[in-house]
Amino acid sequence: MATQTNEYPTKAYGATAPDSGVGPMAITRRGLRDDDVLIEISHCGICHSDLHSARNDWGFTTYPIVPGHEIVGIVSAVGSGVTRHTVGDRVAIGCMVDSCMECSHCDADFEQYCLDGGMTGTYNGKDRRDGSLTFGGYSERIVCREEFVLKVPDGMPMAEAAPLLCAGITSYSPLRTWKVGPGSKVAVAGLGGLGHMGVKLAAAMGAEVTVLSRSESKRADAEKLGAHAFLNTDDAAAMKAKRGYFDMVLNTIPVRHDVVPYLHLLRIDGVQVLVGLIGMMPELHTGVLLGRKVLTGSGIGGLAETQEMLDFCAAHNILPDIEVIAMQDIQTAYDRMEASDIKYRFVIDMESLRAEPAVAT
Ligand code: NAP
Ligand code: ZN
Repeated sequence: MATQTNEYPTKAYGATAPDSGVGPMAITRRGLRDDDVLIEISHCGICHSDLHSARNDWGFTTYPIVPGHEIVGIVSAVGSGVTRHTVGDRVAIGCMVDSCMECSHCDADFEQYCLDGGMTGTYNGKDRRDGSLTFGGYSERIVCREEFVLKVPDGMPMAEAAPLLCAGITSYSPLRTWKVGPGSKVAVAGLGGLGHMGVKLAAAMGAEVTVLSRSESKRADAEKLGAHAFLNTDDAAAMKAKRGYFDMVLNTIPVRHDVVPYLHLLRIDGVQVLVGLIGMMPELHTGVLLGRKVLTGSGIGGLAETQEMLDFCAAHNILPDIEVIAMQDIQTAYDRMEASDIKYRFVIDMESLRAEPAVAT
């Protein structure tokens, strides 16, 4: 595989240790391989996983880390063998930048569950060809294998498109997998980035949607986002009244917590999908699964499904509610995200990074 020798010095924001915070950093993007696309990033959404990773909450962060996996931008150069994208295209990258593309999972369009070493994460991953660390979207530009670059639908605003690449697909995929549609009763636990997309998408698919939240202040918002009901999870009587009611609980809560109260809400054969990455669960008595309750997880979505989700959002005019910030405000955004003070996704305008002087390598 030929490689162009010219690399791209690139301004970025990243962390160097769990307690370093996220600050200016100089990185280098590789010269283009035959199948690579160079993208000038216009916006990058901020996912709770960025925060988990920057602080090494999961114990597998390799430093330095440049977070960001809700990336949109414009193609500015392509490798000699690229056929899918041309200079000037509006494109996007989500949580993965590569996989083996040969195993049975990749063959079945589940690249995120690649059997050969797992998907290559957009950040905190290892490039499959040269072993270098992958760096994410808190940066001016990125180089990525063409198959992992998706199309932003015509007319979709770039800033709003960004969160679809993780928050959007992570909510969309389980709704599709468990065939949510008219007549389905869906509850979304945690009204944050993923949760608010879950509400919008499930409502667009025709489901009756209930928000499960600890934040009474979000009751009015839930309805504006398209939910039909709001259930305060601290209200024991209200929770009891809905036992056995839902077909699905989409659980987006990002911290270790007891999932049993949410299992009680399910009808027979109902499913609770944990998309929040909460580490070890508290002990669970298997008796609560009787009644054929399904407790499962779901990881983002494959490439084809992610493009399908983008096109579905374009067709149904579904966009996240965002707050655009400057790169320099990342720490405040993390603090607010941790305090659940978020409506409902922060998106970084990368012009703010371009305007900053470069730091020494
Ligand atoms: P977020 O924007 O911070 O939203 C999480 C929401 O959960 C909060 O707004 C809050 O909603 C609720 N919450 C927060 N702390 C809580 C607590 N201590 N107890 C109960 N509820 C709490 O986060 P996000 O970006 O949506 O991400 C959610 C989780 O999904 C994270 O763990 C992230 O790493 C994970 N994730 C997984 C995948 C995947 O592929 N499976 C992909 C992306 C992200 P209320 O105020 O309404 O209670
Ligand atoms: Zn994410």
